[in-house]
Amino acid sequence: MDTGDLRVTLLGTGTPIPVPDRFGPSALVEAGDQKLLFDAGRGATIRLNQLGVPIGRIDALLLTHYHSDHTVGIPDLWLTGWLQSYFGTRRAPLRIIGPEGVRTLMAHLEQAYAPDVRIRIEDEKLAPEGAAINVDEFNADGVVYEKSGLKVIAFEVDHGAVIKPAYGYRVEYRNRSVVISGDTRFNHNVIKYGAGADLLIHEVAIARPELLSEPYIQRIMAHHTTANEAGAVFARTRPKLAAYTHLVFLASETVPPASVDDLIAETRQTYDGPLEVGEDLMRFTIGESVSVHRLHVALRKAPTSLAMRRRTAAGTQPK
Ligand SMILES: [Zn+2]
Ligand SMILES: [Zn+2]
Repeated sequence: MDTGDLRVTLLGTGTPIPVPDRFGPSALVEAGDQKLLFDAGRGATIRLNQLGVPIGRIDALLLTHYHSDHTVGIPDLWLTGWLQSYFGTRRAPLRIIGPEGVRTLMAHLEQAYAPDVRIRIEDEKLAPEGAAINVDEFNADGVVYEKSGLKVIAFEVDHGAVIKPAYGYRVEYRNRSVVISGDTRFNHNVIKYGAGADLLIHEVAIARPELLSEPYIQRIMAHHTTANEAGAVFARTRPKLAAYTHLVFLASETVPPASVDDLIAETRQTYDGPLEVGEDLMRFTIGESVSVHRLHVALRKAPTSLAMRRRTAAGTQPK
């Protein structure tokens, strides 16, 4: 990665559905030597380790909202990242930034895991400051992180009348930018903050027409953006590349989910520009242009390469 590039890796592109190919929502954004994580869904730590990124190397975790699929990975990130084996290594407090509610969430997690923290300090002699948590809470649009040219702006989105707060993020670094919609239905704030972005990562939901009469399907669809609507967002923001994540493929016992081709076809009703359907471990490098790499393909060919290289370099073994 060239200095000045912004790099985004989708760690999880799924939803609450517990499947191995799409882990819970989480995205890693790297700029210079800084690493930010956006949401910590199920399996985020597994994906970091697959990339050879020690879990403790994350400079800050930023949360979009408090649906559990976006937060269940937090204790894992926090506590596994504290272990001093190659896959952990954090010695400083974990920084977490989120809309109102993050302070309460983290206070309760600290309470829940107090015995583990106490035991590991006493037994493994881990540094107590590595288990500490620094929380920044916000309640309006604005800059929530700024360091060495890397800036993150939070903006409110609309995930439904009672699912509040819910935010998206715009990340800027040396004239490069990525916008993450968070969970939202069609929302003008995404268009406002997405304007001119190099990469726009948007959530999406799709169900076959025969399912749309079901009340529970209607309720879920009302919390999310259809492919037709997401296309309209892309058409109005004109990113260098649009990418889907958080793929809500709705199905029932009798009606199968729509396909990726269906998703693309519906998007094409309103948008004809560059588009990627996100996959776990899909990486975007934002330089003069935006390039796409599918790291899971490389990892499948040489499954241990990235993590093993790190392990050998660190010279430590997991406990
Ligand atoms: Zn979600
Ligand atoms: Zn949600």
